[in-house]
Amino acid sequence: MVCSAPAPQGQVLLGVFAHPDDESLACGGLLARCVAAGAAVTLLCLTRGEGGPGIAPEADGDETAARRRLGEQRTRELGAAAGVLGVSDLQVLDYADGMLPWTDAAALEADIQRAVERLRPNVIVTFGPDGLYWHADHISVHERTTAVVAAMGAAAPALYYVTMPPGQMREVARHAGVGAEVVPGLGDPDAFGALAEPPSLVVEAGPFAARKLTALLCHHSQMAASPMAAVAPGDAARLLGTEHFRRADVGASGPAFIDSFASPTT
Ligand SMILES: [Zn+2]
Repeated sequence: MVCSAPAPQGQVLLGVFAHPDDESLACGGLLARCVAAGAAVTLLCLTRGEGGPGIAPEADGDETAARRRLGEQRTRELGAAAGVLGVSDLQVLDYADGMLPWTDAAALEADIQRAVERLRPNVIVTFGPDGLYWHADHISVHERTTAVVAAMGAAAPALYYVTMPPGQMREVARHAGVGAEVVPGLGDPDAFGALAEPPSLVVEAGPFAARKLTALLCHHSQMAASPMAAVAPGDAARLLGTEHFRRADVGASGPAFIDSFASPTT
């Protein structure tokens, strides 16, 4: 299967995620590697992440304004990260952060469908059923994207779910030597990748891990206090270079261009 994968040149990958920073944390290495190999990488982010930590206390107590400002900041951070990774098309939608499971599924699917029709990706990457660490918004994006691809029948792109290699975030936290949360609000680094299904595609993105780290740290509002900020570029390949993906059982079934990035040990 690997030897017959299409060449990356001219191929298009679409990443569908919930919040600014998901793209870099989940698969920044793959995205950078795709761009370096000549593929176009595009992103659809369904919220601006305005519900995340980092809302500065307001003198006037106006939490709505504070959330709006955080959403604007995180949108700018995502734009910077996308620039680092070489993303050629970035679309950020205004769904409410933290509310995706309670958002009209048909509306979400229509927006994902529109992006697929506009960008005509060969490969879509989104969350797996574990939502990286059981984040409800992530699981919702997994469900909605899977439904869109399943409904496309023979015209569907290849669909891959990204999962975190178990233990990877524990190693990042250990490396940093601090007890801070890898992702704000998530105290247990072992939640990443726990109970994820085994990968069908392991990508060694080591040469692109420093770029992934740079992109991650563009998300200053989320990562400044994270152990991620203590990772030296020289350690990025060891700590962040391996990425796991699993081919979905819906969507195109033939070889996809990212299969050519498979680690020889896969
Ligand atoms: Zn997220």
